[in-house]
Amino acid sequence: MATSTSSERDTRELLVELLRVFYGKGWVSGTGGGISGPADDGGLLLAPTGVHKERIQPDEFFTVDPADGSIRTRPADPALRPSECNSIFCLAVRERAATSVVHSHALSAVLAGDLAAAASSDHVAIRDLEMLKGIRGVGNRDTHLLPVIRNTPRESELVEQLTGVLADPRFASSFAVIVADHGAYIWGADVWEAKRHTEVYHFLFEAVVARRDRADRRRDQP
Ligand SMILES: [Zn+2]
Repeated sequence: MATSTSSERDTRELLVELLRVFYGKGWVSGTGGGISGPADDGGLLLAPTGVHKERIQPDEFFTVDPADGSIRTRPADPALRPSECNSIFCLAVRERAATSVVHSHALSAVLAGDLAAAASSDHVAIRDLEMLKGIRGVGNRDTHLLPVIRNTPRESELVEQLTGVLADPRFASSFAVIVADHGAYIWGADVWEAKRHTEVYHFLFEAVVARRDRADRRRDQP
């Protein structure tokens, strides 16, 4: 691995800490999910794929060029491979000026995506929740639209759909995309904003699913 400066070292340690926290919440379990953050050379620190996310060490990140996802530095362990999220993470960095992107495999994200499918819609609308204020530029009186895209056999094949929703003005204020039957990508201008958005969006996923369950039960009552 290339020598990293103290600020990149801090970022690597923070990403490792967040993976452990997110693992504890069931958001990156079963080796799924991932995280990225800013490297000091302007590149993107990228977690390896197919490994237990709660056990990743600070020196096990790749650095990639967000312009094209090409690998700049790799960890010393030759068995490690870069995350399949590479092209998706780089797209969010380029199109939304993000420097940190989280990929969640949370059940709540999958169930929130089901709401769009049930309504034959390409998005989920979230409203009437104080926690909306945790998303940059969003107020608690706003209706916040989140795009839902179809899952594909390989994560890298999501790029085309993601390019479309990131260019869609309906979703200009969103910092997340739900992938149906799969999870979500959530980003921020820095690692701390990505952390906040990740926590807020998971609350919102759980809230919209629980409210829909409650509404369905009331409707089904004789
Ligand atoms: Zn995934």
